[in-house]
Amino acid sequence: MGLVNTRSETKPLPYGRQVIDDDDIAAVCAQLRDPFLTQGPTVAAFERALCEATGARYAVAVSSGTAALHLACLAAGVKTGCCGLVPDITFVATANAVRYCGGTPVLVDVDADTGLVSMAALAAAVTQLERQGRTVSTLMPVSFSGAVADLAAVEALARSAGALVIEDAAHSLGAQYEVNGETFRSGSCAHSDMAILSFHPVKHVTTGEGGAITTRDRGLYQTLCDLRTHGITKDPARLSRNDGPWYYEQQALGYNYRITDLQCALGVNQLQKLDRFVARRREIAGRYDDALAMPELAAEYQALKVPAGVRSSYHLYVVRLRARPGESTSQVAARRLALFMKLREAQVFAQVHYIPVHLQPDFIASGLTGGEFPGADAYYASCVSLPMFPAMADSDVDRVIELLHR
Ligand SMILES: *Cc1c(COP(=O)(O)O)cnc(C)c1O
Repeated sequence: MGLVNTRSETKPLPYGRQVIDDDDIAAVCAQLRDPFLTQGPTVAAFERALCEATGARYAVAVSSGTAALHLACLAAGVKTGCCGLVPDITFVATANAVRYCGGTPVLVDVDADTGLVSMAALAAAVTQLERQGRTVSTLMPVSFSGAVADLAAVEALARSAGALVIEDAAHSLGAQYEVNGETFRSGSCAHSDMAILSFHPVKHVTTGEGGAITTRDRGLYQTLCDLRTHGITKDPARLSRNDGPWYYEQQALGYNYRITDLQCALGVNQLQKLDRFVARRREIAGRYDDALAMPELAAEYQALKVPAGVRSSYHLYVVRLRARPGESTSQVAARRLALFMKLREAQVFAQVHYIPVHLQPDFIASGLTGGEFPGADAYYASCVSLPMFPAMADSDVDRVIELLHR
């Protein structure tokens, strides 16, 4: 690690941040001179670029990742009396989407080593709900940190339960995974019915706020397009009557979840850099991995495990404190807090992803937190997300590693 100059020592390092170049600014300015600020051809161009980036057949761009989750749940048929299975370690939006539709999010424990949904816990939850005669509408695996859950296994489980799979791919644009030796892309919907993306500034590419749903199902695509705009259609083939060229029909209750052409102009330009961004994230992860493999650090820390066959796109780089012999979960959590504060004093703004959903007061008050979550509890006590974004210099990474040594 050696010398770190004092200027870089005090430069604040966030856990994540967008990369905006002059060509991004030029793309947005050009769009401002275009006749369309919204509902124009740049939205469609962004959707085509998303299909290309993910390999999905269809993409529907919307106003946020949360809006994408809401529409995906509606399209999956989530309603009052239905359940959606959500990992306990995720951003609350995943579970809230089920609630927006009147459904019940059932929280499922995670594997502490990966932060991904535990397949054993997921299968047990499906079996239990079926025994209780409950309707399981959707399984919602989260591609946490940029690594993909065992989507083929989730899909098989969903098929047996008559449920749809919604991959929350907000962390994993650009990630790959293998099934039977074949490589697939996160968000391609090769093993899911729908996937959702987010373009919040900390994510891989940004539109400010923004999101999308990808799918390979034409019917779902149609439903998602309608729901994005009030449930309104103008398609002559689907109208119940036709009063004239102005005529449209609201055929379902939808929303205004549209994204603007201004945002999509930024999105199209950002997507051109996705491969470079992901490559740099992987380089940074490699540098952290190498440091954490050194004996002094390996004794104290362990990197989050990426499952075999998965190539993470590293939205996050999570490191976990190893429990010392005889140490309780709360003792580990106390050391994690001390580490967090030490990093912060040095202007390194790490984060914790995520507080388990079962600990959120609104979920507790709503009676949605039954069950045991030993994996999520162990994970949460020990995790810290280190700075990870493509504009980080190697010296920035080394500065973080140096702090872990102390
Ligand atoms: C960011 C994120 C979302 C929500 O996306 P927004 O665009 O912020 O609404 C949903 N799920 C996960 C896992 C996320 O990280």
